[in-house]
Amino acid sequence: MTTVPALTMNDGLTIPQLGFGVFRVDPEQTESVVADALEVGYRHIDTAALYYNEGGVGAALKASGIPRDELFITTKLGNDRHEDVAAALQESLDALGLDYVDLYLIHWPVPKQDKYLTAWESLIAAREEGLIRSAGVSNFLPEHLDRLAEFTDLVPAVNQIELHVEFQQRELRAYHAAHGILTEAWGPLGHGLGLSSDPRIAAIAQAHGVTVAQAIVRWHLQLGNIVIPKSNHRERMAENFDVFGFELSAAELASIAEIDKGAAGRTGRDPREV
Ligand code: NAD
Repeated sequence: MTTVPALTMNDGLTIPQLGFGVFRVDPEQTESVVADALEVGYRHIDTAALYYNEGGVGAALKASGIPRDELFITTKLGNDRHEDVAAALQESLDALGLDYVDLYLIHWPVPKQDKYLTAWESLIAAREEGLIRSAGVSNFLPEHLDRLAEFTDLVPAVNQIELHVEFQQRELRAYHAAHGILTEAWGPLGHGLGLSSDPRIAAIAQAHGVTVAQAIVRWHLQLGNIVIPKSNHRERMAENFDVFGFELSAAELASIAEIDKGAAGRTGRDPREV
């Protein structure tokens, strides 16, 4: 059985560095997709209230019989629930069939409604109650993280952000490193763009006898990102999980760094606009 490395968060708890994301997994198919992911070996599952598939995740967890302490489950607070965290979290826990989640994230800061600070205070309370083990955020920019730091004492354990080879988020990763926040990459394989067709990645993958997807997941791991690739297909789940038998060289990492398109590489929504 593959042992996925664990990263230590700023609250002293650990998170498996490689997990499985379920964005856009059909709620009807989620139980069987997650069952496949668990059989492949994933123990870290990333869902969200806004994915409407927490019920399927919960059903798969229950049917698996895997002990709770071997699982790491993340879910996220919906954008219209920033002032209603206790109820929203309980709905997620009920759907998942869990007493606590390992990581709870504010899905988007939604600066236009300006309630994320209130939401963060509620996450701190939920953590004190034991309903969430670690508290984090998603799609937060430094201006939002600075505001949390100004008014509260808890630094988010992670910030889950769009991050892939075309959009490498150097500045935000440096901010995270300076503030003790782990970087979690969403859309790690390219999200809307699909797998990179850049010849530099193709050459690196070929040199190691691996696929482009495997080279990309490996790049995330060596950068220190938490990475949560999604696939509905078991063979691709297994492929994306089989990334511990090779290592990219410093020269290969430098070559991938050149693929970054900066802000032009963003495929998802700008956190200021959501
Ligand atoms: P991704 O980058 O993981 O890409 C997924 C797609 O890549 C699949 O649908 C499939 O078409 C393709 N793919 C997967 N494995 C492949 C392989 N081995 N070979 C070829 N193609 C392959 O995109 P994603 O699902 O957007 O992101 C991953 C996870 O991140 C999500 O499932 C979700 O959990 C999370 N996420 C979070 C946010 C957020 O706002 N916090 C936003 C989007 C996604």
